[in-house]
Amino acid sequence: MRVLLVEDEPALRMQLRTSLQEAGYAVDEADNGRDAHFAGDTENFDAVILDLGLPVLDGLTVLKRWREAGRVMPVLILTARDNWHEKVAGIDAGADDYLTKPFHMEELLARLRALIRRSSGLASPVLRSGTLALDTRSARVTIDGQPVTLTSHEYKVLDYLMHRPGQVVSRSELTEHIYAQDFDRDSNTIEVFVARLRKKLRPDLIETVRGQGYRLQCA
Ligand code: CA
Repeated sequence: MRVLLVEDEPALRMQLRTSLQEAGYAVDEADNGRDAHFAGDTENFDAVILDLGLPVLDGLTVLKRWREAGRVMPVLILTARDNWHEKVAGIDAGADDYLTKPFHMEELLARLRALIRRSSGLASPVLRSGTLALDTRSARVTIDGQPVTLTSHEYKVLDYLMHRPGQVVSRSELTEHIYAQDFDRDSNTIEVFVARLRKKLRPDLIETVRGQGYRLQCA
């Protein structure tokens, strides 16, 4: 899953980036409203963390512009303490959730998981296909209850596909959602990750749909 992190305070941004990356997200960053707006307008993110107090263009305006342009990615806003009208304005502008600063990283990660889950139409934090289970809370994967060790990229590919069971996902879409923008992207590596997942998990777990992409078995 790929997340846009918008925060102008360097120390907090760095802390957030580290935690998000450790939790398995590909992270793109912006430190002002103009760059944030451009990134969210031109790239596809699975979620956005948006500070409202930003230089150049404020977060609320950024959010309104995205929504007016039909950008539907889930947005979690970060608001100042004791500013309830900022929360109301944010939600009315199209935010899906909010967190008040200061917050606990665990809470932010839990809210982010819930947003991504809901935007995929899923209710449970544990995603399943047959005896395969992916727990989005711990980023652990088990098959028949036995833990399976995956590399971070293998996990990212599986996580993305498991959020879209039964849907055909193209290689370019997968590439876009498992790498941050500044990463050296190579869509050929997706094939390698899928091959390894089949080997480690189940040969028929991920179907190749010729000329279109991959589809994860629902059950
Ligand atoms: Ca700020």
